[in-house]
Amino acid sequence: MNAMVEGKVVLVTGASSGIGEATALALSAEGARVAVGARRADRLESLARKAPGEVLALELDVTDQESVRAAAAKTVEHFGALDVLVNNAGVMLSGPIAGADTTEWTRMVETNLLGSMYAVHAALPHLLESKGIVVQVSSTSGRIATASSGVYAATKFGITAFSESLRQEVTTRGVRVVVVEPGFVATELAGHITDPAIQAAARKMAASMRTLQPEDIANAVVYAVTQPEHVAVNEILIRPTDQT
Ligand code: NDP
Repeated sequence: MNAMVEGKVVLVTGASSGIGEATALALSAEGARVAVGARRADRLESLARKAPGEVLALELDVTDQESVRAAAAKTVEHFGALDVLVNNAGVMLSGPIAGADTTEWTRMVETNLLGSMYAVHAALPHLLESKGIVVQVSSTSGRIATASSGVYAATKFGITAFSESLRQEVTTRGVRVVVVEPGFVATELAGHITDPAIQAAARKMAASMRTLQPEDIANAVVYAVTQPEHVAVNEILIRPTDQT
């Protein structure tokens, strides 16, 4: 238990696997009351069963504004407040720009960028009331773009830009904004890549190093959200030691 987060209400998007799931479990272990959102409701139910504290499972599609608004409203209705948004839902459909299936670009922009903006918009009135915290899950791709990650990187650079504007708008009103930028984490993320060559390259990269585990990022989030109110941890870049 950590007194800084005990009893606080946290909403985690993209909590049905990977970083979101690990973060929800870590915050629950520290005493937070946690609402978890994603499309795979069965995964959320099993997360709720294994969490040490109370967990509210909310089927949620971040590309649908109404769904995001409803999730924020249900969290506040159920727990009485919203103190922390962990804005984590995302997809990575890497591939070269030439000849790309542009429906994949649309999915990434709608999920990673617009979806994350919708979540901030829906949560912000409650966070202003609670003087809460927004944790924006970006990526090393939000700092450095590489070949075959153009659109994914564009969404993550976009999150950084949006987060800095948000920070300037709300920091003197007591709301803190944290951008977390993970390097390679062993999750389901790369499994959705449809380009076989890029999929193979991702697998090779994973096998070449000691990757981060979702819990490593969850630990960084717990650190950021358990600091005293006058301390704003604005950015955390966290890579595997083996990643160049
Ligand atoms: P996972 O694929 O394990 O998790 C992605 C999560 O996002 C799932 O819970 C998925 O749930 C959810 N999600 C996807 N689309 C939607 C949607 N439309 N509405 C609601 N939820 C959605 O991957 P990670 O845990 O790795 O990814 C989490 C975040 O971390 C992402 O933003 C990713 O970009 C970022 N990241 C990951 C890195 C890595 O190496 N793994 C590195 C840097 C950043 P469901 O399908 O059930 O909806």
